[in-house]
Formats: sequence, C-alpha cells, structure tokens
Amino acid sequence: MFPKVLIANRGEIALRIHRACRDMGISTVAVHSTADSEAMHVRLADESVCIGPPAPRDSYLNIPSIIAAAELTGATAIHPGYGFLSENAEFARIIEAHNLILIGPKAQHIAMMGDKVAARQAFDEFDIPLVPGSEGAVDSLSSASRVAGELGYPVLIKAAAGGGGRGMQVASNKVELEGKFSMARREAIEAFGNGQVYIEKYLPNPRHIELQIMADSFGDVVHFGERDCSIQRRHQKILEEAPSPLISEKLRASICLRAVGAIQKLGYLGAGTLEFLYQDGEFYFIEMNTRIQVEHPVTEMITGVDLVCEQIRVAAGERLSQRQDDITFKGHAIECRINAESPVDFRPAPGQITEYHPPGGSGVRVDSALYLGYIVPQFYDSMIGKLIVHGASRNECLNRLNRSLEEFVVGGIETTLPLHKRLIRERDFINAEYDVHWLERLIKN
Ligand code: ADP
Repeated sequence: MFPKVLIANRGEIALRIHRACRDMGISTVAVHSTADSEAMHVRLADESVCIGPPAPRDSYLNIPSIIAAAELTGATAIHPGYGFLSENAEFARIIEAHNLILIGPKAQHIAMMGDKVAARQAFDEFDIPLVPGSEGAVDSLSSASRVAGELGYPVLIKAAAGGGGRGMQVASNKVELEGKFSMARREAIEAFGNGQVYIEKYLPNPRHIELQIMADSFGDVVHFGERDCSIQRRHQKILEEAPSPLISEKLRASICLRAVGAIQKLGYLGAGTLEFLYQDGEFYFIEMNTRIQVEHPVTEMITGVDLVCEQIRVAAGERLSQRQDDITFKGHAIECRINAESPVDFRPAPGQITEYHPPGGSGVRVDSALYLGYIVPQFYDSMIGKLIVHGASRNECLNRLNRSLEEFVVGGIETTLPLHKRLIRERDFINAEYDVHWLERLIKN
C-alpha cells in the first residue's frame, strides 16, 4: 500500500480523500492555493504545500507545481478527486512519466471517455444502447440538418468535449438548427478548446440514471447499482438518490450485467460511472465519467462500501475487496448538494460562516469542509457541502432528510438549503414522479 498520498483537490472532496487515506493508515499531503491556506483539508493533512495563487489555472490546474509537491514530500500516488485535473489524460501521462501513480484510470481511457463521440462509438460496439444520434462528429450544417431530419426534432447539439452541463443546445426545428449549430460550435471552442459537436435526439422527459462500477488490475469488475440524479438545474445535479425508485431488481441486474461486461472488455481500471437517460422503460447511454463522483456517498450508504478506499486499493495493485455477490443493497439514501448560492436566483454567495450547526443522529452524514469562521472563497465552485441521509425505506429516508434539513444551520451566507426543504415536500418528489426537467419547472412557479 502507498505510505503517502497527495490530494490534488480542495473542499469537501479533499477532506473526504484525507479521511479515507487515514482510515487506511496512509499519510496525506494537501496542496492548496493562497486562498485556501485556512481550509480544513490543509489543517488536517499531515503535510501541505502551497502551489500557487487563487486562480485555478495557477494552482489546482498547475501540473508542474503539483508534481513538484509530490516529489518534494515523497508522496508516491496522487488522488485527483473530481473536477480540476481528474479527467485530464495529459495529467495522467505526466504522473506516469514521473514514476508516480494516479489513483484513477489509465490515461487512454480518460482520453477516450473525455471525447463523448469516441465514448459513444466504444459503447455502441459493446452493445450498450445509446441515445439515438449522429454516428460520429457532425462538421457541417448540411450534415447536421440531414441527421436532425432523420432523428426528428427536437434535437440536442452537444460538444464532444463537453462537461458540467455546458455546451448543449436544443433545436426544435430546421430554422433553429441553423443558428444553434454555429452557436454550439463557437461555445465548444470557447469553453473546451475543441469545436467538435455531435447530435442526439432530445428526449422530452427522461430520468438520469447512472451505474457505479469499479475495476481492479486483475480484470475483475463489479457494479454498485444505480443512482437517480434527475433533480437538476441547467443540466447540473442538485439532489441524488439510490436506489432509483423506478428500477426493479430484474432491470437493475440486466443493465448492470451489460455495463460490467463492457467495462471488462475495455480493460478499465478504478472507479467509473456510466450515465444513462431512462425513458419509457428503456436505457440510453449518454457518457462515462472516469472519476469518483460528487454523489458517490448515496451508493456508500446503501452498500456499506467505502468507494474511495476501494479506488486507492485497486490503484495500489490490490484486488477489489468485494465480489459481486458480497455487494448487497440496504435501504434508501438521498444526497442534497448545498451550494453557497442564492436559493432564488442562484447567484454565487461567498463570504464568512458566522453560524454553523450540522445535523446528526443515526443515518445522517455531512460531507463538508465548513467550520465556524471559515470564509468561503469566491474563486471556486459554489458547492460547500453535501447532506446524505439513509433510511430503511424511502419514506424513512425522506422523514430523516426533512428533520436533518431543519436542524442544519449555515449562517452568514446564502445557501441552497431552503430550496431542498421546499423540493422534498413536493408531492411529485414524494411520489418519485419527476424527470430531468421537473426542478426547473418547480423553480419557475
Ligand atoms: P455533461 O457531461 O455536461 O454533464 P451529459 O451528457 O452528462 O452532459 O448530460 C447532462 C444532462 O443533460 C443529463 O442528465 C440530462 O438532463 C440532459 N441531457 C443530456 N442529453 C440529453 C438528451 N439527449 N435529451 C434530453 N436531455 C439530455
């Protein structure tokens, strides 16, 4: 096992990784920007290295500084968390070239899944059903128009290198397609430095359902069931639950078996998530994420497996600690993402925490790096924590979530806690009758 791991991230996920390392007897190195000197992960890590000024490109995305920090401290492995460099194939190659180990997949798989067109082609070959769409990238308006005509409107123009819910344009007819096609290409270049786009049929009311898988270097692959992440705003997840109230045991077994088969053929290593849209009883693959995800705790709550520890284990060349038959699902879990944002117009709301009281009790977990007096910096993503609640049934989970949200006090800044309090009391949510557009409709009313 690694004696020392460098954590190339910040916020709650850096703390989450620190905890997993320490639970495994591994010491930790935090890297941080000048804006994060007082951050909790920096305070708790065994060692810390300042890697640059606040702007992410100068610190958390600064590969030479991060590699130098690993060499300086003698860390032999790097955990990238999510976001930042976690899906950067070049970073993975550089880590390898410096005889360090990435706690993550092989560079070739990060590169393949980072190109959504290549990912679609790969999973198509593995017999995984895709959202109907263009066979590859679409490089002219005339081919876009032909593909859209064949699929039928509305269609979605997506950036091949897209992520974070950005780089998507819906076109409802041929006239709209003309404007939106060039807009999508322009935006793709600006946001991702890659103008390639492809086209998918726009599904009117899908659920977002994703499968958690984990693979070791011995060729063993297991799945940890699904998460339902359909509560979204601007294609970004706000609340997630596991299991999906919509999926029967039989359906779960069949789609997971296919996913595990595909991952095995790919020769993949580490944690990964296959994302699907689910509508009218059918699954349609949209993309694969090659990192630990924000919402991984709901899976941990229903399986009792620590996915970050498992990531570290397989990266160190050990076998998965679980066989498929050992993984059982118990009860129900829901995660609320808490953002430092106005709950009304979602504008970022950084600032100092003047009151802090997280909820507790049986079945309640708070993953957050907040503390009283902490100043939420303005430079980074607005997510400041996650409340994860488990119950024997979905109903018990909802009651517990309700009371946990009531207990939760974060003072001094605006947060999305009031939004969660409101949405989980909605009848449609209680009945699990929602799709990926439901929250946006609720907010408008
Ligand atoms: P990103 O990588 O930016 O997160 P995804 O491809 O994972 O993009 O899609 C994010 C969300 O966008 C989905 O969860 C869903 O809400 C919506 N979406 C994506 N593709 C489609 C589609 N073909 N039809 C309808 N909604 C879609």
